Amino acid sequence: MSRENQFDVIIIGTGAGGGTLAYHLAASGKRILILEGGDYVAREKDNWNPQAVNVDAKYNTKELWRDVDGKKLHPHTNYYVGGNTKFYGAALFRLRQNDFREVRHYGGISPAWPISYDELEPYYTQAENLYQVHGNRGEDPTEAPAGKAYPWPAASHEQRIQHLADDFRNAGLNPFHTPLGVMLDEKNPRLSPCIRCNTCDGFPCLVHAKSDAQVLCVDPALQYRNVTLLTNAIVKRLETDSSGREVREVVVERNGVLDTYCGSIVVVCCGAINSAALLLRSANDRHPNGLANSSDVVGRHYMGHTNSVLMAISKCPNPTVFQKTLSVNDSYLGSKSFEYPMGHISFVGKLDAVTLRAGAPAIAPGFTLELMAKHSLDFWLTSEDLPDPNNRVTINRDGEIVLTYTPNNLKAHDQLKTHLQRAMKQSTCSIHGHDCHQGLFARSLYVGQRIPLAGVAHQNGTIRFGLDPKTSALDVNCKTHDLDNLYVVDGSFFPSSPPSIQG
Ligand SMILES: Cc1cc2nc3c(=O)[nH]c(=O)nc-3n(C[C@H](O)[C@H](O)[C@H](O)COP(=O)(O)OP(=O)(O)OC[C@H]3O[C@@H](n4cnc5c(N)ncnc54)[C@H](O)[C@@H]3O)c2cc1C
Ligand code: SF4
Repeated sequence: MSRENQFDVIIIGTGAGGGTLAYHLAASGKRILILEGGDYVAREKDNWNPQAVNVDAKYNTKELWRDVDGKKLHPHTNYYVGGNTKFYGAALFRLRQNDFREVRHYGGISPAWPISYDELEPYYTQAENLYQVHGNRGEDPTEAPAGKAYPWPAASHEQRIQHLADDFRNAGLNPFHTPLGVMLDEKNPRLSPCIRCNTCDGFPCLVHAKSDAQVLCVDPALQYRNVTLLTNAIVKRLETDSSGREVREVVVERNGVLDTYCGSIVVVCCGAINSAALLLRSANDRHPNGLANSSDVVGRHYMGHTNSVLMAISKCPNPTVFQKTLSVNDSYLGSKSFEYPMGHISFVGKLDAVTLRAGAPAIAPGFTLELMAKHSLDFWLTSEDLPDPNNRVTINRDGEIVLTYTPNNLKAHDQLKTHLQRAMKQSTCSIHGHDCHQGLFARSLYVGQRIPLAGVAHQNGTIRFGLDPKTSALDVNCKTHDLDNLYVVDGSFFPSSPPSIQG
């Protein structure tokens, strides 16, 4: 192999995991190759067009996956430089201390992590600085102790959201400002990169003001001469040496042509589903169940949260533009009426009639979709789903990804909805009093033919880390137990999926 194709480190994927790693290693002087299956997101007006983004799914992959019955599945995921952080809602939470311990849920056990919050704390601070997180410490009673303040003050609430925060507080809840990765400078609006628009959550940022892995990590890493990025470079297989202990070659398809690269260290960062798929597709004589899979956990324990979008309709309009500023964690650990963890309540970006039409909710009496969009508070509810070995990623004979998933712990999510319903009934306004709130309406999250299984935005857990090589594929440093030079650094390694891992 020519020296041109030999590197000290090969990073596969440029999302939250791969992009951040590339940034961190860039200054080391090591020869680093970044392989990204997608291209850059084109900067164009459609970036902020709800029809193009939410209805036509312009930026989603066109790849086809299958469900367990062989039915087609159009995954709601994005292959670009920056990965899914180009589209994420930029709510950047730390896990709670309790999330690292074994927790009993209504639906079963959420297992302990092999590391503690305290071990991760300094890295959270580094990540918050890198991703320019805006937040206020001390507002959320469930938050873990932090060594430093957030680097930026929280994004302020607009009037309607502030009113709701006041209502929630009067009802005995502890609303707090959502920690957000947006480059907003409210003290200096004329120069603020972020303009607080209504097309943030789910949309790429046209003005590059979202804290995503392309803008903050990959682009700066490429300033170093020792770092090379190949886009449209889809990694097909990892080949090992004859001992099976090392990845020898990374096989890449680029514009229809196969090529191979060699890295002293290889880091897989393709997102939890594609990373598992790559290891499974790389099976060989030494690794007949897939690479690094002597434990048989690769692909198993797929988690993706139980999520709902609930629209609370009020008689008063909601003119909020940037809605994602408020969160409530009072049900995170359970309550007097339901002693098990329920989850996290926050907001999606402000829904509009175009988007609603595609995933139409039940219409509130006396309202049209346009009116509902003008009057709704659009909540995002997230509950933990538990790691089930039968919820898994496999590869069928045609090499396609097959996703098998049976939801669990649903009672906790129902209780979370009840909790929100109760809180909303106590909300009030000076004109209509308690009658202002008209009810909660579920919005289907998935447009057209999509079914909930296709909503893989929160995918994690498929290559879990742990102390025991019999029950985990990765050690606590995310190196595979079975190989000496192979790491997995993305959402795959989580042994559980606490709701603070956000969407
Ligand atoms: C609409 C939306 C909203 C979200 N909101 C939030 C939020 O508010 N807060 C939050 O914390 N999280 C949010 N998330 C989730 C968050 O974006 C993901 O958890 C995160 O990006 C996962 O990082 P990752 O590194 O595991 O994978 P990804 O970011 O998915 O990156 C994987 C990369 O690998 C590349 N790749 C895949 N296979 C191959 C291959 N074979 N060869 C080469 N390259 C490959 C992909 O193209 C991609 O660039 C949201 C996600 C979506 C879709
Ligand atoms: S709210 Fe700010 S960061 Fe988000 S898309 Fe708009 S300008 Fe970009």
